[in-house]
Amino acid sequence: MPDTEEKILDVALKVLISEGYADATTHRIAQEANVTEMTLLQTFQSKENLFREARKKNPNEFLKYWDEAYKSMPPWDLDHPQPTFQALINTNIPGRVLDIGCGRGENAIMLAMNNYDVTGIDLAEAAISSAKAKTIERHVKVNFVVGNVLQMDHLFMEGEFDVVIDSGLFHAIMDEERHVFALQVWRVLKTGGKYFMLCFSDKELSEDGPIKLSKTEIEHTFTPFFKIIDIKDTTFDTRFDPSSRKAYLLSAVKN
Ligand code: SAH
Repeated sequence: MPDTEEKILDVALKVLISEGYADATTHRIAQEANVTEMTLLQTFQSKENLFREARKKNPNEFLKYWDEAYKSMPPWDLDHPQPTFQALINTNIPGRVLDIGCGRGENAIMLAMNNYDVTGIDLAEAAISSAKAKTIERHVKVNFVVGNVLQMDHLFMEGEFDVVIDSGLFHAIMDEERHVFALQVWRVLKTGGKYFMLCFSDKELSEDGPIKLSKTEIEHTFTPFFKIIDIKDTTFDTRFDPSSRKAYLLSAVKN
């Protein structure tokens, strides 16, 4: 990789970690890397692609993004559950649920309040400790743990859960890690267990979120391990614009 590209990618990752997807502009990255914005866009085509490449170059460094994000209120961090998951409780029978990438725990807590036996896992310690504090305030029991979803073998048994929910994690997983990710979700589910995943869809045109996924990408990742029930159009609330981000909800069953 030419030196300039390397430099742009290192700067992009640094700015992404400190500013977040919305505020890490190509203008700022170009300025800090000492290239023109035009060179940057010619090399990487889009901001989304630039971030994909920057994360790929240094995946371990990228993990700092999450802890950094929780030092303030990240855009996905709502003080209520995602309406899409709230709607699911009416259609599913209570059981053991794992919320992967649970963040500060609003979805997990909402499910626990509706009689599900819930575990939430997240990499970011700050997110888990504030999720735990909420359970005390709200008198509800959820098992929140710090951990990496890509390495759950030592945390949960095979077939331990009836349902896995994913509100905005899969779209944050790197392309290279999707296969391992799908296998990990598959392993912790019972046969016949369900996986519900909410992600930004490629119908969303705004530039400032993480990766937007196509139905083909979702199918490609999960069909080897799951029977896909459907991939529905829905919306994803953020703190800045409730219900306006176009999203997909994948419903899949472990074969
Ligand atoms: N589900 C939450 C947070 C969504 S943002 C909500 O709806 O508010 C994605 C979350 O996934 C972040 O909290 C981030 O810390 C977590 N995360 C990212 N990669 C992870 C991984 N490999 N293992 C566990 N958690 C991860």
